Amino acid sequence: MQIITEPAEMQVIAEKLRLNRQLIGVIMTMGALHEGHLSLVKLARESAGTVILTIFVNPIQFGPDEDLHRYPRPFEQDVALARSAGVDYLFAPEASSIYPDHFQTTLQCGKLGEHFEGKQRPGHFNGVATIVSKLFNITKPHRAIFGEKDAQQLAIIRQLVTDLNMDITIVPAPIVREENGLAVSSRNIYLSSDERHKAGIIYQVLCHAEKRMAGDEKNLQSIAQEVEEMISSTPGCRCDYVIFVDEKSFELAEKAEQGREYRLLIAAFCGNVRLIDNVKIRA
Ligand code: AMP
Repeated sequence: MQIITEPAEMQVIAEKLRLNRQLIGVIMTMGALHEGHLSLVKLARESAGTVILTIFVNPIQFGPDEDLHRYPRPFEQDVALARSAGVDYLFAPEASSIYPDHFQTTLQCGKLGEHFEGKQRPGHFNGVATIVSKLFNITKPHRAIFGEKDAQQLAIIRQLVTDLNMDITIVPAPIVREENGLAVSSRNIYLSSDERHKAGIIYQVLCHAEKRMAGDEKNLQSIAQEVEEMISSTPGCRCDYVIFVDEKSFELAEKAEQGREYRLLIAAFCGNVRLIDNVKIRA
């Protein structure tokens, strides 16, 4: 595995790979690699000849009160994990080479970036869309694998690729979970062992919602309310939002139509740690 830090060098390598008819798959991460990230690498390995993993903690997607400087950066451990997972190129640039002085062009996601996570974190998805576009231009992938864990981000990236005519296939990857169902996340290290145990409630309520819909409940608002109550009655846990969206448009959904797909999105606090999770459900 080769480690590259300069965007221009990565571009030259990517261009050569393309000229040699290599299918490039990219996985973009902020590091602190875990099983979730490694499952994306596995998917890329299965469908692409060359796998590029990027590690970059993107400053412009963090708000002023967020954890940019606290974000874990165990680089040596990440290198070892990426190598053993079969990554060919690890692209890990410095912030100064991605955002040099006088950098000024950013992307605007529109409506899709304003709701849910975007409401909680204004400007977050514009920062995500900007870095994802830059990393696409640097790594020149044919395929890019993104986790369903960040469902709104995935929807925004699909829209970005369509709107800007990018010739890249977006491949969604299923959510990897811990034994109690808690979605694996770099932020889980901030949970105490008691909070980690209690955070299993989020997966339980996702399963509850699936059962309610399988039982033919069409009122999505009342399912959301049940879910909210289940979470808030768990000591130390509270909801930020519980929302059903239409899987295709990502717009708020209130009543389910037979055969249509929806996504239940949850953001909840366990202690002081904000966790997000979701599930796709067909009515
Ligand atoms: P992050 O480093 O948190 O920005 O995540 C990088 C990529 O890994 C994103 O596409 C995430 O959706 C994906 N990812 C993070 N956690 C998981 C998980 N538990 N299961 C699947 N994909 C994940």
